[in-house]
Amino acid sequence: MKVLVPVKRVVDYNVKVRVKSDKTGVDIANVKMSMNPFDEIAVEEAVRLKEKGAVSEIVAVSCGVAQCQETLRTAMAIGADRAILVETSEELQPLAVAKLLKALMDKEQPGLVILGKQAIDDDCNQTGQMLAALADLPQATFASKVEIIEGAAHVTREVDGGLETLALTLPAIITTDLRLNEPRYVTLPNIMKAKKKQLDTFKPEDLGVNVAPRIKTLSVSEPPQRSAGIKVPDVATLVAKLKNEAKVI
Ligand code: AMP
Repeated sequence: MKVLVPVKRVVDYNVKVRVKSDKTGVDIANVKMSMNPFDEIAVEEAVRLKEKGAVSEIVAVSCGVAQCQETLRTAMAIGADRAILVETSEELQPLAVAKLLKALMDKEQPGLVILGKQAIDDDCNQTGQMLAALADLPQATFASKVEIIEGAAHVTREVDGGLETLALTLPAIITTDLRLNEPRYVTLPNIMKAKKKQLDTFKPEDLGVNVAPRIKTLSVSEPPQRSAGIKVPDVATLVAKLKNEAKVI
């Protein structure tokens, strides 16, 4: 079974983002970019399924600027077999990405698509769900365990008050949650090997997809500044302040 793993290039999670002075977005010039953390978990899961013999080929996909190749090389260093870049300098919103992925699914015919549950830059949490709708396939979001049992994907999800386990007929769409696995450390020999793996490039037009944005960002602003805390000398003062000033007890 072939698995498609979409990986997004985002601002590294350690970077403190700054809002542009004209409030049109955040400044990503000269900022460290990395693979979206949930997508790293998705690649790791695909590799583990391959190691268990449930998967035969892993294809990583990224949509965006030419530098997304670096993200794809990282996916291949973790263990993806080959990669596809859908190259565009247009701003891509989840519906556009879902349409591009649907077009690639038609080409590649994967048994499973494993996406991250959300990209940490736009926090949309939409692409997997939109792809499942466009492809008319079963979906399991926020997976914390994935097993392939007798040709079906058994997915455990963390829901309010416990765990839910679903059985999905294949092909299917899965999105990863944080606790699904801990991605492996990428080793230097694997980074070197990844440089030689196949990377194909398409343009959205090659896939017949119009990626024009449907949503306009009106304004982006910094969160309000937090006022500094104070030190209290003892518990009695703390309790008095909570009671009389903060009025929370
Ligand atoms: P979002 O709906 O934007 O929160 O993204 C959810 C998931 O969709 C991500 O974790 C990725 O797996 C996938 N995705 C979103 N945008 C892209 C992109 N430009 N290229 C590849 N995968 C993407």
